Amino acid sequence: MIKLVFLGTSASIPTRERNLPSIFIMFKGERILFDCGEGTQRQLMDKGLKFMKINRIFITHWHADHFAGIMGLIQTMSLEGRKTPLYVYGPRKTSEFLEQLLTIGYFTRSFNIEIIEMNDGFVIEGDGYKVTSFEVTHRIPSLGYVLEENQRIRADMKKAEKLGLKTSPLIGKLKDGKTITFKGKKIAPEDIIEYLPGRKIAYTGDTKYDPNVIKYAKDADILIHDSTFASNKDHIDEIGHSTAKDAATIAKKANVKHLVLTHISRRYQKGKDNTDPKILLDEAKKVFKNTTLAHDFLEYEVK
Ligand SMILES: [Zn+2]
Ligand SMILES: [Zn+2]
Repeated sequence: MIKLVFLGTSASIPTRERNLPSIFIMFKGERILFDCGEGTQRQLMDKGLKFMKINRIFITHWHADHFAGIMGLIQTMSLEGRKTPLYVYGPRKTSEFLEQLLTIGYFTRSFNIEIIEMNDGFVIEGDGYKVTSFEVTHRIPSLGYVLEENQRIRADMKKAEKLGLKTSPLIGKLKDGKTITFKGKKIAPEDIIEYLPGRKIAYTGDTKYDPNVIKYAKDADILIHDSTFASNKDHIDEIGHSTAKDAATIAKKANVKHLVLTHISRRYQKGKDNTDPKILLDEAKKVFKNTTLAHDFLEYEVK
């Protein structure tokens, strides 16, 4: 199971309902953050999520709403005596900016931080998954990320049973791609082994409409897309962000299964005339039906 928890869903400025961008991902033993806006550690605590287990943080870009929580989080990890290294990923200049952040003030760190700068098509391999970064169009160097589970290999037990192989250790060999001989008969992996595509999550960070997202988010189980504002004329002054309709158009073209709108401008607040965030959802649904409007602490399981 891959589980996501939206810790912050606001754009640029927090509101009473929405904290700044961060998404917590649980995949097997791994805990990963996509972005780490101010206050992320309190959001994690509120939800009872074990932040000491976070081993990778992917920063989409160096606008403060996406990174300002990292310093406090690292300090808390240190005070709690963390020993295992933390990996921080981001676009170019990530090393320079993070070094600056980590050398302000007086505190000693109890663990190492490994910084990895990524670019379009850069892949890092994890245990059973990979994360690929892709360039998006914002006002500064910015990346989106795709987390993709490795192909899953499964034996069709009905077929195995028919061949008399049900509990045989030879199934492991077939899973390894080896042809076996059983009771004088040759059995090839494709006779009982199925290859299932891994689950795929795509996150854009901040971007205006960008066809590069379509390329990288192709057939994703979930696309989490910038949806800062609605496409009415008053808001066309926003530079480097997407409308709900842009997000939905990308979702449709990329043939994703589910779209989640996030990075919601503070101008959309519940109960306010003509600015209820539901208008973003309605706008997107006209183009792409399977859409959810993110809210803080929204949980999502990729099955
Ligand atoms: Zn932002
Ligand atoms: Zn930004």
